[in-house]
Amino acid sequence: MKGFVFHGPGESSWQDVPDPAVKEPTDAIVQVGVVTICGTDLHILKGDVPEVRPGTVLGHEAVGEIVEVGSDVRTVRPGDRVLVSCITSCGRCRFCRERSYGQCRGGGGWILGHLIDGTQAEYVRVPCTDLSVHPLPGTVRSEDAVLLADIFPTAYEVGVLNGHVRPGDTVAVVGAGPIGLAAIATARLFSPERIIAVDLAPARLEAARRLGADAVADVHEAPRQLVDDLTDGLGADVVIEAVGVPESFELCTRMVRPGGHVANIGVHGKPATLHLEDLWIKDVTITTGLVDTYSTPTLLRMAAAGRLPTGQLVTHIFPLNHMAEAYDVFSGAAETGALKVVLGGEQHEVAVPAA
Ligand SMILES: [Zn+2]
Ligand SMILES: [Zn+2]
Repeated sequence: MKGFVFHGPGESSWQDVPDPAVKEPTDAIVQVGVVTICGTDLHILKGDVPEVRPGTVLGHEAVGEIVEVGSDVRTVRPGDRVLVSCITSCGRCRFCRERSYGQCRGGGGWILGHLIDGTQAEYVRVPCTDLSVHPLPGTVRSEDAVLLADIFPTAYEVGVLNGHVRPGDTVAVVGAGPIGLAAIATARLFSPERIIAVDLAPARLEAARRLGADAVADVHEAPRQLVDDLTDGLGADVVIEAVGVPESFELCTRMVRPGGHVANIGVHGKPATLHLEDLWIKDVTITTGLVDTYSTPTLLRMAAAGRLPTGQLVTHIFPLNHMAEAYDVFSGAAETGALKVVLGGEQHEVAVPAA
């Protein structure tokens, strides 16, 4: 079969790789129908995630069809269409029993396209199948469901729920890429008073407005002043960090009100300064997190009911074997206007870019 293989920093290719096979009785083999590329995959290609060994097939988000199951798989059968979650769960360890599946110590957690071969391929071996795939109702398109493998549960759990967004809140979202946009969309479920989006790119700020931001600020145009003006100088109740650079994290801690929450989602590759000389007296709660995907069944029901704007996040669709081109478009988002890039599925034309 073909797969997208990481060969070390800056080196990758869509190439022949061995077909995956069932190794454990809880494994399944999934024929990949629709797959997407994550910002984390770009970090891997840059060499920021050293535990990914050269030779690994990348990808941790997919929808596909079960083609083979091990003898202990109980909940799905060959022919079932499933969402492959970015998080694998053993279901038995201390963390899984507390539904912190992202921290699984029983062979799960984030392993696909990280510690084992991932989903950017024609077939993928999925361990711990019963707790790591979600059967899909016929009413949810694969192109929509694939956004529930990672970005929607990540934005919702690590941003909105960890940040304790409540009705009437002022919510600031720093970073309006796919994760920040999904955070805006899911923060709206709680009827905040207003959502303020901050980014560098005008096209992303426009997308933020389409997804429900009430005010937007270019990061160079005093976003903190805007938040202060809108909140009588108090600051935002909840600030969600969806960039992952020191400057954006520090901006978030300056925009939060006393007693408020800063929820970090961004993948940080460098140290950020925690200004305790200002924050120690402000009763601020700062959370970090890897997604657990405990909210995926809820989000799937909402997607089936048309309550999530998944379609607005997909700007480009490619055939599966155009993986290298899709990576180029996704990594050049400033020029291409790419938000989420999807491969496979029914529609193979390139959609209208946002920029
Ligand atoms: Zn991801
Ligand atoms: Zn576990």
